[in-house]
Amino acid sequence: MATTVDDGLTTEQRDVIALVRDFVDREIIPVAHHLEYDDTYPEQIVGKMKELGFFGFAIDEQWGGAGLNMETYARICEEIARGWMSITGVINTHFIVAFLVQQFGTDEQKQRFLPRMATGEYHAAFSMSEPNCGSDVQAIRTRAVRDDGFYVIDGTKMWVTNGERSTVVATLVKTDPTTRPAHKGMSCILAEKKYPGLSASKHIHKLGYKGVETTELVFENNRQPAANLLGGVEGKGFQQMMAAIEVGRINVASRGVGVAQRAFELDLRPGDRRAPGDPVQARRHGDQARSGAAAHPEGGAHQGPR
Ligand SMILES: Cc1cc2nc3c(=O)[nH]c(=O)nc-3n(C[C@H](O)[C@H](O)[C@H](O)COP(=O)(O)OP(=O)(O)OC[C@H]3O[C@@H](n4cnc5c(N)ncnc54)[C@H](O)[C@@H]3O)c2cc1C
Repeated sequence: MATTVDDGLTTEQRDVIALVRDFVDREIIPVAHHLEYDDTYPEQIVGKMKELGFFGFAIDEQWGGAGLNMETYARICEEIARGWMSITGVINTHFIVAFLVQQFGTDEQKQRFLPRMATGEYHAAFSMSEPNCGSDVQAIRTRAVRDDGFYVIDGTKMWVTNGERSTVVATLVKTDPTTRPAHKGMSCILAEKKYPGLSASKHIHKLGYKGVETTELVFENNRQPAANLLGGVEGKGFQQMMAAIEVGRINVASRGVGVAQRAFELDLRPGDRRAPGDPVQARRHGDQARSGAAAHPEGGAHQGPR
């Protein structure tokens, strides 16, 4: 039976958060600066995360995951973002897709994808946006046409986080472009990279949030088995994707808290480039000590100088 402690977390939650925090301190913080500036994919970190079971955190235990709830997941994302925000991007689309499969997948799809996703053997991406549309999701043009036991997919997707290294991409397509409203003709296909005609054609360069890849994705006569239609029913894709991006929002919101925590730990303020030991820095520390408390990103207060 789980016991609660005064921060509202169970001992199990505290243990897993402590494990992640330790990992972040040892494996991420020492190299994050270098990887961010070189825009290098964190191959080693991701490999260790797979070994430690990070890719199964929010996947149910029956599928080999840890079955953590969304509160714990949010705390974990905070810890990771405290080390380097880009790593939260590596897992974000993975857990969005895990939610999709757990919530809407057929039994066969759950059995086929979830155990592999829990170990990280399968790394998932999530793709709605296209060159012509982002917010206006119903304007997508990517088509999937049923042909015997397959869907033949053609179209171009944009801004696909983990677009290159992912194994499976939950892809929003139009299975019927004539419906009104348009979302009734939209479906989600769990597109596997192993089928020819699906490639990450271009990396998109960003101002920040580096290391994690963001790509264009091209489908050219790409044949996916009909068994990869999420839930086995056409016309449900829009609602499925909209439900799943809530998981993504938890991840993204947690990033803000984690980055703010790190800035607080380092005592950074916007525009501050002064080195430790600088008289202005020293004066500020004196001010904080006198005031006895400093605002904390979680809304609490830390006593004394830091
Ligand atoms: C780093 C990064 C990673 C991403 N990763 C993914 C991913 O993995 N998968 C994926 O599918 N997408 C991804 N995206 C795309 C992202 O989801 C889109 O950028 C987002 O949906 C917004 O679309 P847009 O950029 O085309 O902006 P637009 O839709 O053109 O919006 C531009 C502005 O106009 C406003 N606006 C839009 N429509 C209206 C309206 N009707 N009324 C009033 N205001 C409006 C918006 O609020 C916004 O401020 C990513 C984007 C970035 C930058």
